[in-house]
Amino acid sequence: MAITAKKKGKRKLVQQKRFCSFCANNLDIDYKDFKKLKNFLTERGKVIPRRISGNCAAHQRTLTVAIKRARFIALLPFTVSK
Ligand SMILES: [Zn+2]
Repeated sequence: MAITAKKKGKRKLVQQKRFCSFCANNLDIDYKDFKKLKNFLTERGKVIPRRISGNCAAHQRTLTVAIKRARFIALLPFTVSK
């Protein structure tokens, strides 16, 4: 065929096995442990949502509280400006 159908911007959904890293490794969330909390922030300093990070609801909740505490005592940035 001369005319080929234009592919729509469909990205193949990569099926990744998601799991809550805190449940799986039996870790507890500490607001002073900013190195661990940094893994759940974007490069602009925003909290990565649960649908991306794969955390369970309970751990995501404690994580956001911990991140907010860490921000308040200046361990983590509120925003990262470029
Ligand atoms: Zn969990």
